Amino acid sequence: MNEKCKYPGCTEAAKKTWALVPLCHAHEKNIRSEAEKYYWGLSSKPEYVQRPHYTKIASQIPWSKLCMQRGDWA
Ligand SMILES: [Zn+2]
Repeated sequence: MNEKCKYPGCTEAAKKTWALVPLCHAHEKNIRSEAEKYYWGLSSKPEYVQRPHYTKIASQIPWSKLCMQRGDWA
């Protein structure tokens, strides 16, 4: 994969993807651990509070809620 990590401000080469978004190892790991905690459902805080890293890339995920709210997904 020759793409760069899509996390805002990151210049690392992408090694993995999360929801089709290219990410470097470190950011993929951050987002994965957020997701694991989130899906355990231990907290009732809003998703963007529990998953700050994910929220930063969410607008680049084709099917994300944030994209759909913005209405630019067509
Ligand atoms: Zn990165």
